[in-house]
Amino acid sequence: MQQRIGREIWLKHYPVGTPTEDVFEIVKADIPEIKEGEFLIQNIWMSVDPYMRGRMRSPEETKSYIASFRLKKPLEGSCIGQVIESKNTKFQIGDYVFGDFGWRDYWISNGNGTIKVDSKIAPIQSHLGVLGMPGLTAYVGLVNIGKVNEGKDTVFISAASGAVGSIACQIAKIKGCHVVGSAGSDDKVEWLYDNIKLDYAFNYKTVSENNLSAELKRGCPEGIDLYFDNVGGNHLEAALDNIKPFGKVVLCGMISQYNRTEPLAGPSNLFLAITNRIRLQGFIVRDHYNLQNEFQSIMSKWISEGKITWKETVVNGLENAPKAFIGLFKGENFGKMLIKV
Ligand code: NDP
Repeated sequence: MQQRIGREIWLKHYPVGTPTEDVFEIVKADIPEIKEGEFLIQNIWMSVDPYMRGRMRSPEETKSYIASFRLKKPLEGSCIGQVIESKNTKFQIGDYVFGDFGWRDYWISNGNGTIKVDSKIAPIQSHLGVLGMPGLTAYVGLVNIGKVNEGKDTVFISAASGAVGSIACQIAKIKGCHVVGSAGSDDKVEWLYDNIKLDYAFNYKTVSENNLSAELKRGCPEGIDLYFDNVGGNHLEAALDNIKPFGKVVLCGMISQYNRTEPLAGPSNLFLAITNRIRLQGFIVRDHYNLQNEFQSIMSKWISEGKITWKETVVNGLENAPKAFIGLFKGENFGKMLIKV
């Protein structure tokens, strides 16, 4: 049989500040014959996620819950693929599978960490978005960490049109909350009003830095009970300015800070956490993978009832993955950022 050749995306060196395309390289790789018990997966969809920026730091530079990417090796990341050759009785040719197959065309699996997926409820790639890690993050953040009070809470969600944010907004609406979201374009804000039925939404890029707090006051005149933070920085400060006594802040992500080269300054108004007796809690979704089944059955029900909608930004071609990744930090994605390999 002719030798199969695939492509892989490698990290050449750790970026300083906002990554540029020259820190990545595309490399050809010989694909070996599969052995007994193995199967060959052709990647179809690749997930592009902000957390990957945290892995693009040297192991000496940062202490993290997850290891740095190794240089001159394919980037790791979640994918949906299809089995195209198999010597494993549990995985047949044609099966769709999910796993950490990495930024490459082909992956050989022995079954470990590979999960069969279907498109009964939603298109197959939704296992990287609404039915996958971003959806679970939204659910865990609001329900388990934020302990959202049904029908009572005023909830503010930043990066509200993104993969996590847009699902968090809809769960909060399903729970009968007053929901306010921020996003980085007028189109995104329009979608948040028209499709997600937010009670208030604003384009933070057209609000001057000093007025973010006043803008939030307009959306949450009585104050915020729960802030789901995806952005950090000025969004967190503005939320603290508007938090109610005994309010909660769920620290999910701080994308505004990921490319900083200077040490981070804390929120200048953190003392409000004391005067308002609030609770700030960070979380990492991988600590909650035991909730995956519970989440998937609830989310599948909501989807089939038409209660949840979502958007995807699809970038075609493995070779365009670096550009798509960099685009996350410029708000180029609307909903889940995906590569169609
Ligand atoms: P998104 O789909 O939300 O994409 C990122 C979005 O962030 C962009 O589209 C952009 O939207 C916004 N953004 C980028 N830079 C800035 C900035 N400087 N200020 C404000 N907004 C900015 O990504 P995800 O939904 O996958 O992730 C959202 C957050 O959740 C991230 O911080 C991520 O790290 C975190 N996360 C945390 C997890 C956990 O386990 N704790 C798991 C998964 C994600 P816009 O146009 O609105 O600016």
